[in-house]
Amino acid sequence: MSKATTICDGVYAVGGPDLSRPEDAYVYLVDAKSCLVLIDAGVGYGNDKIERNIRAHGLEPAQVWYVIATHCHIDHIGGLHLWRDRYASKIIAHELDRAGIEGENDSLTAASMYGVNYRPVKVDTILSGEQNQLRLGETDFNLLHTPGHTPGSISVYIDTSEGRVLFGQDIHGPFSPSWGSDIREWRRSMRKLLDLEADFLCEGHAGIYRGEKIREYIEGYLNRYPE
Ligand SMILES: [Zn+2]
Ligand SMILES: [Zn+2]
Repeated sequence: MSKATTICDGVYAVGGPDLSRPEDAYVYLVDAKSCLVLIDAGVGYGNDKIERNIRAHGLEPAQVWYVIATHCHIDHIGGLHLWRDRYASKIIAHELDRAGIEGENDSLTAASMYGVNYRPVKVDTILSGEQNQLRLGETDFNLLHTPGHTPGSISVYIDTSEGRVLFGQDIHGPFSPSWGSDIREWRRSMRKLLDLEADFLCEGHAGIYRGEKIREYIEGYLNRYPE
């Protein structure tokens, strides 16, 4: 049986520990009408399940024209090559995490920690700077640079008829010098996320938070990792 979760109209969780593969970060799907957009791709081993979950919503994996990689860790990017090879999906990521995604520096991906043999991909759209807006399909995607967990971490938000949906993938950390983590930058990034006053938070490992729970969740981590 396929598992698939609707977060709000046109936004779904299609991969994750309970949906595709235990090592996977959550994989979110946005139906942008003329195409589909995936936020992260999991480690790769659960990709067939992710595709099944997409079909369970009556949507076609071949319509995934874009995959946004929130940062260069293997539990988010291991499956990118499958999307590129099967469906010619375009990869979008920030320039400061490009080296990990394109295979120039293996330690940045943490692949050995997961025992995954990473197959690098080229980034088609390289983001730079503080904030970018991309219109993909019929949806405006706001891509906010939120460094800290990694230097090129981004958070993505869209405004829907049901409210603002924020994809904030690794809010909880962890932090390591081997990936270039920076707690001070991370704290600044978390304040940017709080300022967005999102209605839905789709987190990479913790799942979905709504309304006031979002502030509680983020502030909980700010208290846990003081400067
Ligand atoms: Zn992660
Ligand atoms: Zn990570």
